[in-house]
Order: sequence, then C-alpha cells, then structure tokens
Amino acid sequence: MWIYEHTTKRRLFKTPVIISYQTIGTESVQSYLRECYEKKYWLMCDCTTPPAIMFLRRQSKDGEIVLVNHSQFGSHGAECEFYSSVKGSPREINFNGALVSAGEKRHHVQLYRNFTSDIPSAASPSSASSNSEMRIDSFIRLVWQLFEDSLTQLADISQPSPSELISLLKVRDAGQQVILCKQENLKKHLYVDAKGFGLLKSNMKKAHRLNSSRRHQSVLLLFATHLEFRNESLRLTTYKGEVFYIDNVRRKNIKINRFDLYDTPCLVALSFCYESPESKPEDLICIKWFAQPFVNLKFPILVHSNYEKIVIDYAIHFLSNYPDIHNPCLYKPLSAIVDNRTQKEFIPSFTVSFSQANKTRRFALFLQETEIENVYPDDTQFSNTFDSIEILKLYEIQTVETLKYRIRMILEDAINRLNL
Ligand SMILES: [Zn+2]
Repeated sequence: MWIYEHTTKRRLFKTPVIISYQTIGTESVQSYLRECYEKKYWLMCDCTTPPAIMFLRRQSKDGEIVLVNHSQFGSHGAECEFYSSVKGSPREINFNGALVSAGEKRHHVQLYRNFTSDIPSAASPSSASSNSEMRIDSFIRLVWQLFEDSLTQLADISQPSPSELISLLKVRDAGQQVILCKQENLKKHLYVDAKGFGLLKSNMKKAHRLNSSRRHQSVLLLFATHLEFRNESLRLTTYKGEVFYIDNVRRKNIKINRFDLYDTPCLVALSFCYESPESKPEDLICIKWFAQPFVNLKFPILVHSNYEKIVIDYAIHFLSNYPDIHNPCLYKPLSAIVDNRTQKEFIPSFTVSFSQANKTRRFALFLQETEIENVYPDDTQFSNTFDSIEILKLYEIQTVETLKYRIRMILEDAINRLNL
C-alpha cells in the first residue's frame, strides 16, 4: 500500500503500517489514517497494474476512517481483499492448474465491500486488468477450500459414503475455520439445501432490519439435478426432486471451464447481500454464483471437466470392486500439492493411495487433453510425495470404453506394484 498525492498525481512512499481488513479497525492504523486524511492523502494498492486508487472517508457517526475505491481507477486485483465485486461483472474462469497455489488458504473473507459511500466502486470489465482474467474468483476459491477442508474431495472407498445432506453439512462445518467480514465465522452465514434457503432469507431480512448500514452477507450451497436461469430467476431441482426458485439473481453464473448449466448433477453455490442500506428487507439479491459438476451423489467430489467426471467415477467404481486391496482412497485436489523435498507444486486430476501392512503407495494421474499441453512434472520432482506419476493422453482415446480400459490398466499396474 502506497501513499498517493492526488493533487500532484504522485506516488509518494509505502505506508509504514499494514492496512488490511484485519488491521483497519485498530487504533494504530486509524490514527495513521486520520493523519493521511488531514493531509488529504489518498492510498494506492499495488495488487494489480495499474495500481488501484482509494480515498479516505470519515464516517460521520463515529469518526472512523474508511477506504473507498475510486470510481474510475479503483479496480483491485481479483484476489485483493479490497477488491469489490458488486459492481463488477462475472468473469469466465479458464482453469489452469498452476493458479491455486497451496499456500493460498483464506481465514478471513469479505464477499462484498461494506457500504461505505454512495460512490460506486470501480471494477468495471473494461478497466479490469488483463491478468485478473487468469485468476480464480475469490468466491469460487472459498467454496473449493471448504470442499477440501471437509474432505469432500476425498473418497475413502472402503467406508460407507455419507448422505447428500450430511455431505453438505460437513462442508458447512468447514466454514467454522473462516471469519466473514471481520465478524463471525462463515458457518453461521452458510446455509445448505432448499430448507436452508428459507432460513437464509428470514435471517438476512432480520439482520438488515436491525442494522441496515452494515452489508450482511450469506452463502447458500446445494446439490441440484437440474437448473435453469431466465430473467433473473433461477429454477432449481434438488436431488430430492424438490423444485424451487431463487429470484433477484442479478448476473449470469461465473463459468468454470467449458461447463454449461445443463452439466448436472452439480453443486450450486450462491452468495447474497443487499444492494444498499436503503434496500427493502425483501430485496435480497444474489450477485455471484456458479454451478460446478461433481462425480456422483455418493461422492460429491468437484471436478474441472467432464472427462474428469467420467474417469473418477469409473476409477471409484473399479477400486470398490477390486478384491484384496486395502484402504483405497481417491483424492481430487482443488489446490496445489507441494512436494516437501523439492517444494514443487502441481495439481493432478486425481491421486490414489493404497495401503497394505505398513506400506502405503500413492500415485498421481494427469489427464492431458491436447497434444500441446506440457505442464507435467517428472517423477523426480515428486518422489517424496508419489511413487509414480501417470499421464493419460485423452487426445489419443476415441471412445469412453477405451478410456475406461486405460484407467483400468493404470490402476491394475499400481496395485500389482504394491503387491510386489
Ligand atoms: Zn488492492
């Protein structure tokens, strides 16, 4: 964060205190910001190029200084905590395995900026920096983190799988580890299933009525077997066959890779807030949402492509019917795996481990869709993490039957090596 003198349009020096969502309320940062305010200094955030400009505003009631994104030059990088998405537009995500680094876990989130002023924040699609298109939306990353933390991405094949509702409740429990808007843990504001949506609406109404100057935020997660989006209304069919509608959905879904709305069953994740302090309690809106297919209702493991869905579904089926292997576990990572010897990071399509006696063997599998992709590590970079790395060249495979055959060969090989 830099001090910016807007009268001369000069960047002056780096701020001597760390200004973030966690520190901004503290007395030391507030007293520093009061000084800047007196000198009519602005701030410049170097999360992106060109840097995002913010000015300072004194809240009339308690004199607290807050930061306001400049309406024209205030576009932060998508990962920056000062990034404001309410006025932004959804961006399509082209998933590239290198993007979610292993150390990027978040313990504090803010889905939308607070109501700080009547000045619209920036982040218009035209001013968004080109590299922000390469980044994964913070809402998607948050949901992925919950799926990983709740072990939903892990199929322990020898164990009975939980019901759909239990799976969602486990994901919700993982929200306990995340603080939303500096206030409470995310779990309190995370609702699941069609029933949860009713509860979400009534709690948001209550909260907005009680204190409309704060931007209340909440998240809904559910598994859908069908969905349709038309005229700001989303029609959903849950896995139980219930049909219900979510209105005031202001934008199209954030697209993940080539998935379409009819790629189901899928997880639907939506985040809600009010547009302004003046909004009526019943005018709750949904601005960000996405739908992402998973393997099947027994194992709601989120996937990045329809190939992954077919391959993982088949691998689980094969492993669960294979005699004499012990504790087969399949894991589909959403963020990078790090080798503790080489510190290299990578994201395979999935990994499988088997253990027998005191021996555990693990291997990782990559699906390579086109001939030109070449992002795979060699075995030596991950020798501390995996016994082997397999690459399945999808472009050489013509039919689903051949694909299944190749998966079977790879798994049988790995099991045979374990028995040696
Ligand atoms: Zn920033």
